[in-house]
Amino acid sequence: MVSGRGILHPPATLGVIGGGQLGRMFLQAAQRMGYRTVVLSPTADAPGAQVAHDVVVAPPDHLPALRVLADRAEAVTVEFENVSASALRWLAHRRPVRPGWRTLRVSQNRIREKRFLARHGVPLAPWHPVLSREDLNAAVAALGVPLILKTAASGYDGKGQVRVDDARDAEGAWASLGRIACVAEGWVPFEAEVSVVVARGADGQAVTYPVGLNRHERHILDSTLMPAPVGPVVATEARSLALDVAEALETVGVLTVEFFLTSAGHLIVNEIAPRPHNSGHLTIEGAVTSQFEQQVRALCGLPLGAPDLLHPAAMVNLLGELWNRGEPDWGAALSRDPGVKVHLYGKQTPSPGRKMGHLTVLDPDPETALARAVFARRVLGGGHPERG
Ligand code: AMP
Repeated sequence: MVSGRGILHPPATLGVIGGGQLGRMFLQAAQRMGYRTVVLSPTADAPGAQVAHDVVVAPPDHLPALRVLADRAEAVTVEFENVSASALRWLAHRRPVRPGWRTLRVSQNRIREKRFLARHGVPLAPWHPVLSREDLNAAVAALGVPLILKTAASGYDGKGQVRVDDARDAEGAWASLGRIACVAEGWVPFEAEVSVVVARGADGQAVTYPVGLNRHERHILDSTLMPAPVGPVVATEARSLALDVAEALETVGVLTVEFFLTSAGHLIVNEIAPRPHNSGHLTIEGAVTSQFEQQVRALCGLPLGAPDLLHPAAMVNLLGELWNRGEPDWGAALSRDPGVKVHLYGKQTPSPGRKMGHLTVLDPDPETALARAVFARRVLGGGHPERG
């Protein structure tokens, strides 16, 4: 199924490590293009496992399971960054693995990531590694307060983070994180948070999507609007920085760069994710080629698709809280606005902060797209949308 130019043609079998919603949407894109799919998933009922042709049930770095995956898949990708880099390195001797273990290794650890980005001249918030009490004191002295302590490994959606407002609280904050390796980051009084999704092929060709404007609630992404109303200078700079990061990492696949935008118009890289991103979900309906299709194309050695937006778009997340009063009122929300697109990830148990799905709306005016998506979500929750 591999052509002379290293292209993997359908119906080759593509594998993904991880059973979450990002894997699910990758699998759906792959299937639409005629590929067969296999997922390595911790449970048989996870979002990705529900849609794959074939499921290997095991934790992501279970070596015997990876061997089975390598037997069944002709190329492998990941849907989250915390897959053991050494397991991926092992797998890469058997099958193409994209993104590669080196990319994953950098983005698995904030200290490594920041060192890497700083070495490549990428603008970062002032930061300090914290491995000891002495480091912590030095960080507080250098950065002042407020600062943010973030665990170096395994943090997501604001987990493993504490803000320190008083230098005397720094020790307690670090203790609350288990006194493990952390980064201390100077507080950035940002005006907005934006992100850029990049796709990079095996031949080094790379494309970026327009900039997304992200709003977070309690550290979890709440909404994205694309294109972000940031003006051409900032947009060009953000897309160019994202390309630089993808290039520096020599990643193959999709990569997302999250930025803080200051009131002076400066972009500061917050973090990177070597995979499709929640802020890129609206590319499924909004762009010529979705971020998940790009992941398929890059994995298979196909040329990348056009990243252009067909229309401005907005996405709002549907978190577990929406189920607090029982099943959301799908009929009411969808009948109010037939342009609303619903994505649910097939998760059985809603819990607070859990990403259950999202809504996407396209509209000639991005602000109207966002207002319509927010309105639909409010109707879903049984609220009174007219009363705000
Ligand atoms: P992260 O997990 O690093 O993306 O952080 C989650 C959220 O916390 C970000 O999206 C910001 O809203 C906030 N945050 C993180 N780091 C900083 C910082 N240095 N200054 C201000 N806000 C921050």
